[in-house]
Amino acid sequence: MLERGEVANSWRRERWDSLRLLTPNWQCRLPGYPYKGADPDGFMTMPEVVAHIAGFAAASSAPVRTHSTVTSVRRIEGGYRVATDSGEIRCRGVVLASGAANIPRVPQVRQGVPQHIECFTAFDYRNPGRLPLGGVLVVGASATGVQLADEIQRSGRPVTLAVGEHVRLPRNYRSRDVLWWMDASGVWSQRYDEIDDLERARRLPSPQLVGTPEHATLDLNVLRAAGVEIVGRLAAIRDGRALFSGGLANQLALADLKMSRLLDTFDAWGRDYAPHAEVGPVERFEPVRGPASPRLSIDLRSGEIRSILWATGFRPDYGWLELPVFDRGGELRHDGGVVSGVPGVYAMGLPVLRRRKSTFILGAEEDARDVVGYLVRYLADGVRSV
Ligand SMILES: Cc1cc2nc3c(=O)[nH]c(=O)nc-3n(C[C@H](O)[C@H](O)[C@H](O)COP(=O)(O)OP(=O)(O)OC[C@H]3O[C@@H](n4cnc5c(N)ncnc54)[C@H](O)[C@@H]3O)c2cc1C
Repeated sequence: MLERGEVANSWRRERWDSLRLLTPNWQCRLPGYPYKGADPDGFMTMPEVVAHIAGFAAASSAPVRTHSTVTSVRRIEGGYRVATDSGEIRCRGVVLASGAANIPRVPQVRQGVPQHIECFTAFDYRNPGRLPLGGVLVVGASATGVQLADEIQRSGRPVTLAVGEHVRLPRNYRSRDVLWWMDASGVWSQRYDEIDDLERARRLPSPQLVGTPEHATLDLNVLRAAGVEIVGRLAAIRDGRALFSGGLANQLALADLKMSRLLDTFDAWGRDYAPHAEVGPVERFEPVRGPASPRLSIDLRSGEIRSILWATGFRPDYGWLELPVFDRGGELRHDGGVVSGVPGVYAMGLPVLRRRKSTFILGAEEDARDVVGYLVRYLADGVRSV
C-alpha cells in the first residue's frame, strides 16, 4: 500500500478545523473494525477520525509505505510498472484507492472574479479567522457549503449563500438519526447495477447535514434564521457582477419534494418490514421558506463581498494514471470497481462504486470484500469478471 503522506492523510491535511463527520460513530465501521468508543451516536472530530483509521491500520497490520507518492502507473508485459518518488514497483494488479476528493472542483465562472476578492476552497479554508473581514459569498449549499456558511455567519461576516441543486435532510427523523434510516431501510445497500440513473446518482451532491453534539438540523431555514441571505445558483460573473439563477424557488421546492419522497420510503419500510422498530410517529417538515424576491445579482466591485468560498465539490486526481481508462469527460470508466479496458485494475472509495453507501466510510467493508474477491480471482487465473 502506497501512501503519499501518512495514514488517514486526507483527514489530517485537507479538512477545516471544526469539521466533524456527518455520519454517526457507529457508521465508521471499517472492515472487521467497529467503533468501540463510548458515544456510538456521536460524530467524530478530525483527530478522532485520524485515531480511528490509524487504529485500524495498526490492527490490520496493513503493509503501508507512507511518504511514497505514486507518480505514474503504466502497463508493461504481464502487469504494471508503478513509479513512486521512492522507487519503482512491478505488479500484476493495481487497486486505485487514492480517493474521490483530491482536488476542489471550482466552476469556470471563477475566471470572472475581480482580483481584490480573495477566493478559498474547502481545502485551503481552516476557520473564519483566516478570511478577511466583510461579506462572504459561499457558492454551493451541500454539506460543505451549509456547514461553512453557518460557521462564517457566526463569526460576524455576513454570508450570502448561492444555492443550486441540493439534498435536504433532517438530522433526526422519527426519533432516529436520518442515516440510521438510510442504512436500516436498505436505501444505502442498493447496488450500483440496480440504480436507474447511475451517472446521476454518482454525481449527487452530499446531503445538507452536520454532525454536532446537539444532533442539530442544518437546513436553509436554519441558516436564514441565523441571518444568511440565500440566492440562486451562481450562473455567471460578468463585468464584475455575480449573476444568480432565477430558479431558486424551484430548487427549494425540488429538494423538499425529494426529501418527502425519501421519508415516504422510510415510512413504507417501517410499516412493512420493521413494524416493531423503536421509532417515533411519522413526521413531515416545514418547506424551506426562500426570500420573496431573492437578489439576482451582486456587484462584486462594491466592497460588499470581500471573499468567496467555493463549496462546489471535489474530484479525484488521476494525473499519474497513464492508462486508457477515462471517458471523454475524464471520469474513470469502471463497472462496480472493476476498471474497464485494462486487466487487473480495480477502484475503491468512489461515490456509489458498488452500492449507494460506497460514498461513505461505511461502504468500504462490503466493497473491499467484493473488489478483493475480483482481484484474488484475477491473480489466481488471470480472469477478469464482474
Ligand atoms: C469534506 C469531506 C467530508 C466527508 N465526510 C464524511 C463523513 O462524515 N462520513 C463518511 O462516511 N464519509 C465522509 N466523506 C467521504 C470519505 O472521505 C470517503 O468515504 C473516504 O475518505 C474514502 O476513503 P479513501 O481511503 O478511499 O479515500 P481518501 O480518504 O481520500 O484517501 C486516499 C488516500 O490516497 C492518498 N493518495 C492520493 N493520491 C496518491 C498518490 N498519487 N500516491 C500516493 N498516495 C496517494 C491520499 O494521500 C489519501 O491518504 C467525506 C469526504 C469529504 C471530502
